[in-house]
Amino acid sequence: MSEKENKMEKIVSLCKRRGFIFQGSEIYGGMGGTYTYGPLGVELKNNIKQLWWKKFVQNRTNIVGIDGPILLHPKLWEASGHASGFGDAMVDCKECKKRFRADHLVEDATGQDLEGKNEEMTKAIQENEIKCPNCGKFNWTEVKDFNMMFKTQMNGVEGDIFLRPETAGAIFVEFKNVLDSTQQKLPFGIAQIGKAFRNEIVAGNFIFRLREFEQMEIEYLIRPQENWEPIFDDWLNQQEDFAMELGAKKEDLRRLEHPKEKLSHYSKKTIDIEYNFPFGFKELYGLAHRGDFDLTQHTEFGNEKLEYFDQESGERFIPHILEPTFGVERSLLVALVSAYTEEKVGDDERVVLKFPKKLAPVKIAFLPLSKKEELTVPTKELFTQMSDKFVCQYDETQSIGKRYRRQDEIGTPYCVTFDFDSLEDKSVTVRDRDTMEQERIKIDELENYLTEKLSE
Ligand code: ATP
Repeated sequence: MSEKENKMEKIVSLCKRRGFIFQGSEIYGGMGGTYTYGPLGVELKNNIKQLWWKKFVQNRTNIVGIDGPILLHPKLWEASGHASGFGDAMVDCKECKKRFRADHLVEDATGQDLEGKNEEMTKAIQENEIKCPNCGKFNWTEVKDFNMMFKTQMNGVEGDIFLRPETAGAIFVEFKNVLDSTQQKLPFGIAQIGKAFRNEIVAGNFIFRLREFEQMEIEYLIRPQENWEPIFDDWLNQQEDFAMELGAKKEDLRRLEHPKEKLSHYSKKTIDIEYNFPFGFKELYGLAHRGDFDLTQHTEFGNEKLEYFDQESGERFIPHILEPTFGVERSLLVALVSAYTEEKVGDDERVVLKFPKKLAPVKIAFLPLSKKEELTVPTKELFTQMSDKFVCQYDETQSIGKRYRRQDEIGTPYCVTFDFDSLEDKSVTVRDRDTMEQERIKIDELENYLTEKLSE
């Protein structure tokens, strides 16, 4: 096993052991591509979403948020093109019945990228006698398209109802409502964080490829004649900045432009931002120039002209859209991979999640040196007092050394220890996660001290 695969395994195991991430429906044998975020995972995920919302919505005057439904009108998926063609090409092994993404199978075996060319992929599989990665046999079906949308029904609505495969659709159809209720002027954006569902042919790489996941998306509207390239570049930089705020190093990010032949017919430019995951460089985020495709389609299929009225020139037109899109779980994986550190401490080794402080699921742990009431009661009081302001934990089990290690492993920036001297000198020991240095701080000054430290 390579060092990188080993690191990934250790992260997956830590996530389960410490309550970050569990396999979905595990006691029934698990459901591929679904996960439960445990007590720490849910905090971490919320911190990532809050960071994003603050950066892209609350800190800006020209981006506003919405929270649209997962169940959307069947016509919307006709308009967007998803109903007729949203998916990947699949191929089944007739021997072991396992299903694969045909483009991945061909690319892994031959290095050729034949995505979108089903006949050529069928030929490549045959000519290269590509064997089934699962059973090793060579007996395949033809390559066929597979629609990845989950279908369901709804009382009182005719037609196929789908669980949305991306959040964007819910934004496009609210364009008019947002415009009329906010008086935004171009350029402006509409942002949303929410669930998306894709019946991926093969889910995997832990939380990288899921069947149920969350996206953070912005539809950024500009004038058709706008000089869009600098705005596009600025978005790319902002997306990379966000990844770096999660802990990613610049050298682990790269941009991959979609070549002309793979570009959607309406797109002027699309770039994937890739991250060097333990399983190689893969898409983390994306940025696409979508032209006027979406608003034109929804105008045609819906009952409303999705136009913008320019008061100065008196013109009406359909704006163009730049779409920066971010996956929540891929962000979470970047945060975990970047934070995971093994360090030698004397003869010992410690595992630390060196999260940026604002991401840490627990900010401060309150630890009484012993389980004696004279220490536990005032420590709990401190915990209650500080919990109003920070996410804290109280822990009185096992030795202080073991408790420090446990907090290191979940990435808690500060441990506050209340000992027998604390009763006399009204001070506590504050231990720093990264330096392991300890400082004696007056209890009266603790809140200010921690507020300052946590905002560094
Ligand atoms: P991929 O090429 O990896 O299948 P995509 O190009 O289909 O991804 P988009 O449709 O651009 O992805 O989706 C936008 C973002 O949503 C991606 O950049 C990624 O962060 C996230 N995402 C997409 N599919 C999944 C998935 N199955 N599981 C987790 N996150 C996903």
